[in-house]
Amino acid sequence: MLVINVALPVPLARTFDYLLSDNANQAVVGGRVRVPFGHRQVIGIITAIHVRSKLAPDQLKLVTEVLDSQSLFSDSLWRILIWSISYYHYPAGKVLFHSLPVLIRRGKPAEIAPMWQWFATHKGSRTLLNSLKRAPKQQKALTALLSGPFYRHQVSDLQLDDAALQALRIKGLCNLRALPVVKDDWRTIFRVNSEHQRLRLNAEQTTAVGAIRSKDEQYGVWLLAGVTGAGKTEVYLTVLENILSKGKQALVLVPEIGLTPQTIARFRERFHAPVEVLHSGLNHQERLTVWRKVRLGESAIVIGTRSALFTPFARLGLIVIDEEHDCSYKQHDGWRYNARDLAVFRAREENVPIILGTATPALETLYNVQQNKYHQLTLGKRIGNAQLASQQLVDLKGQQLTNGLSTALVQKMRRHLEAGNQVMLFLNRRGFAPALLCHECGWIAECQRCDHYYTFHQQQHQLRCHHCYSQRPVSSQCSQCGSTQLVPVGLGTEQLEEALARQFPTVPVTRIDRDTTARKGALECFLAQVKSGGERILIGTQMLAKGHHFPDVTLVSLLDVDGALFSSDFRAAERFAQLYTQVSGRAGRAGKQGEVLLQTYYPEHPLLQTLLSYGYMDFALQMLEERRQAGLPPFTNHILFRAEDHDNNQAELFLDQLRQLLDDHPGHDKALLLMGPIPALAPKRCGRFRWQLLLSHPSRLQLQRLVTTILPLVGTLSQARKVKWSLDVDPIDS
Ligand code: ADP
Ligand code: ZN
Ligand code: ZN
Repeated sequence: MLVINVALPVPLARTFDYLLSDNANQAVVGGRVRVPFGHRQVIGIITAIHVRSKLAPDQLKLVTEVLDSQSLFSDSLWRILIWSISYYHYPAGKVLFHSLPVLIRRGKPAEIAPMWQWFATHKGSRTLLNSLKRAPKQQKALTALLSGPFYRHQVSDLQLDDAALQALRIKGLCNLRALPVVKDDWRTIFRVNSEHQRLRLNAEQTTAVGAIRSKDEQYGVWLLAGVTGAGKTEVYLTVLENILSKGKQALVLVPEIGLTPQTIARFRERFHAPVEVLHSGLNHQERLTVWRKVRLGESAIVIGTRSALFTPFARLGLIVIDEEHDCSYKQHDGWRYNARDLAVFRAREENVPIILGTATPALETLYNVQQNKYHQLTLGKRIGNAQLASQQLVDLKGQQLTNGLSTALVQKMRRHLEAGNQVMLFLNRRGFAPALLCHECGWIAECQRCDHYYTFHQQQHQLRCHHCYSQRPVSSQCSQCGSTQLVPVGLGTEQLEEALARQFPTVPVTRIDRDTTARKGALECFLAQVKSGGERILIGTQMLAKGHHFPDVTLVSLLDVDGALFSSDFRAAERFAQLYTQVSGRAGRAGKQGEVLLQTYYPEHPLLQTLLSYGYMDFALQMLEERRQAGLPPFTNHILFRAEDHDNNQAELFLDQLRQLLDDHPGHDKALLLMGPIPALAPKRCGRFRWQLLLSHPSRLQLQRLVTTILPLVGTLSQARKVKWSLDVDPIDS
């Protein structure tokens, strides 16, 4: 008897011990077993074999069934997942099961099952049917066999009897054989399609391709920085030619909304090789099929969103992450992994190159370039002579506003709509107000203790400093000019949609954000509406900015510039600049001159000036320097504890207790910064109040150690059972 550790899909950090009888010698680490758990039978994954148990053997239950004789995971994938369990402090079973197709979690075979066939043996084919006249069922079965072999699953269709066939088998008259599954090998037919008219790469593309190709047999991270339309996809495709012709496979990750038919078509057209697409529209069976094929090496390219990262590859040769700055690479509930970070980790484990493509690199990525961990390749020129949209700043100070829209903007909207064009309005976040601002003079309520801006919390009607944790009631007067017109900056997409319906009653409005596109197929439906043309107003958040071409959009406005510049979310400015860069590259393609209009109380803001005059890269480097001075990521590391309750009381108490625990802990050193408890930026969701406590530390290792030692104690806090709590390592919306 052996003792094994099994990870079960339950929300517990531990694994479970089971006994395995010696004859189950095919069990492997990374394979599935069926085990009794409580009153049920559940499927688990073996994480270790030959272990010592703290329990006596008679207290251990026996494994019911061993399901796999081979690990479901490649070695590198296994290492990444095991590492993730401790790095993200997430239950082992949850992490491992998350990475598998649903049907594998439910027990479907990992290998494509061989087909079993009944056939007559030599002896059987010489046997006289008459000799079986006392056993009519056997006689009937042998008659069928003599006219040719048939599959086991056809037995009942042929109205034959399994027992009769077994009886014939014992007599040596027939037998079963497994027919091997035919494997497709695309490598024998691979070629780069030549009927596809080949583009001549420009000088920058040639340099980029050359650099990556010269090192395409080893790990290396390449930031491919190029504005939209600069030809990044063309670079991916050209690099891929070499990879695929060596028989290796590639993984291409795209943002949630970025998976467009055009992109997929470009990969399919270029190569004579199987391209698989993993998207939310696939059913469980289709996902399983893709998973099996890739694992066997039968697919050449997998294009997919975040979770495609966990596909096991037989011969991975390259990873591409398109729009690497995109927030959808971070899982926003449950196991909150960052697919970009894990993809870089995977590339290292597999010893293959990874390309991070974007017009607007994440600050984390630029930091890694500065540290010489990543290499930057730049495509500065736009292909062809696509014009940039004209840009304009509208100073909102003292202007009349209707639902957050200035008169100048409303007039422009009218003009563009009357010409039959479309208008796109952007808010950088969903409904909440970060800062409180004087409409007359632009003064912003500021914390007295430190020079951070207060965050306006509508729910509590309070101003809170997210930096030093001080708070005060909302002031009624501007402390600079005395005006009583204090307004929260930042409007929700929902409120805006309502307001526009009143202001432009005859114009159709399409709102595209996480809420409206949560339903399957909703996004496709919206996009089809938009593409059908005609006057229309589109309201969107960041997620609308990429991947899609809206040929009829000629006016784009970013309504909430200040909400981003003065947000207590230190990432808001970065997101805003990414959004601005993406949309100004898009407005007015297809020959129509586009306009971009920015509403702000601070047209002279230095970051805004840098962005508009020098572009995203200069802006980003300036931001990075500010982050360094302020001790913010990527110069420090964050772990965020979140808690939710129903009465807006318990969660704060829980986090207070947690803070106390951390304050008193011997592992607490001076470099640790605790911020909170404070209400989350979107303080209420689905009827629950959300609070948070942020831990910040310059050393990732020390922060991880502290959290590892503290976690087992958190469950013992008296408040812990009264709230729903979770933790987020490297949060992106703190
Ligand atoms: P990105 O991925 O950076 O947005 P793409 O690779 O999609 O850019 O290129 C934008 C457009 O320019 C595409 O229509 C593409 O076919 C075309 N293109 C790319 N590279 C070249 C080239 N070297 N010569 C001509 N056209 C090109
Ligand atoms: Zn403060
Ligand atoms: Zn004022």
